[in-house]
Amino acid sequence: MSAMKTRVFTAGKNGIDEQEMAVAAEIIRAGGLVAFPTETVYGLGGDATNPDASRKIYEAKGRPSDNPLIVHIENFGQLEEIVAEVPKEARVLAEKFWPGPLTMILNKNEKIPYETTGGLDTVAIRMPNHPVAQAFLKESGCMIAAPSANTSGRPSPTRASHVWEDLQGRIDVILDGGEVGIGIESTIVDLTEEVPVILRPGFITLEMLSEVLGTVKMDPGIVDENSKKPPKAPGMRYRHYAPKAELTLVEGQENQVVSAINGYAEKLISSGKKVGIIATEETKDRYPEGMVVSIGSRNDEAQVARHLYQVLRQFDEWDVDAIYSESFPTAGVGQAIMNRLLKAAGHKKITV
Ligand code: AMP
Ligand code: MG
Repeated sequence: MSAMKTRVFTAGKNGIDEQEMAVAAEIIRAGGLVAFPTETVYGLGGDATNPDASRKIYEAKGRPSDNPLIVHIENFGQLEEIVAEVPKEARVLAEKFWPGPLTMILNKNEKIPYETTGGLDTVAIRMPNHPVAQAFLKESGCMIAAPSANTSGRPSPTRASHVWEDLQGRIDVILDGGEVGIGIESTIVDLTEEVPVILRPGFITLEMLSEVLGTVKMDPGIVDENSKKPPKAPGMRYRHYAPKAELTLVEGQENQVVSAINGYAEKLISSGKKVGIIATEETKDRYPEGMVVSIGSRNDEAQVARHLYQVLRQFDEWDVDAIYSESFPTAGVGQAIMNRLLKAAGHKKITV
């Protein structure tokens, strides 16, 4: 791909400058690529109805072309425009959780090209709750297909500088809206089967969805790595969110986890290796060696989620040889945190 000049438009206290927003919107309408902040992570956007724009997204990210994109919308009428029919559950969920970090899978109609859905007859749709994303969707008048704005396989970007690191020279514009609030990707719920199924856990939990929908299932392919059926969301099949160094999760009672990690770290450090340790506020002072980063407090799982990808990128920058991480309970948002950590670790977990 020939290098292009990537421009960065930075939000002031009233959001992105009006003229710069108009430029970004025109680029989208013309089939170009604009990265923008959402409340979950930064997205790499292109016109969802334009097959060329979708092809460019895959190329810029180095993303396998069978891994479908999420279509971002700004009002419910846009959903009605692109799906075969609107099930009752979709209205209920939109009423309760949109705008917000929830993506719904529905049967598509011909308005959305197969380039955007990776060849599938279903489409993923989300209405983001971030002022810059909303203003951008409105100004462009387009529905915007946007996967996370990272190079395929790298941790998702939670700041504009992460997008710049990965995609400068490959996209037209980055809208810089500062650090995102949630930090992990949206919950994906599939409404095309008899019972709603969570294909990717996120900030909207199984408990929250069950409260309004009744029975909701978790895709067995993401809960059990030995499941006979692979995850239904193509993106959940790849080793993803991966730092450069090998990551190992250590699980067990707190004191035992700390001393086990200290043992592994000491051994590697004495043989000349650089070791990263993902600790918490509660434990960070108990690791005498290694490059220790606190991911947040065990009492605040939202904080842990928000810092996760930034911490993984930090270790890439420090060029460590190995990373050890504490584990987290899997209730509530913890399910999403452990899902991402396990994927980043290629499922390497030691129980002590
Ligand atoms: P990203 O936007 O990078 O977080 O990736 C979007 C995620 O949504 C990927 O894991 C995709 O595989 C998943 N996805 C998008 N569209 C569909 C669909 N129609 N069916 C199942 N999963 C989907
Ligand atoms: Mg992604």
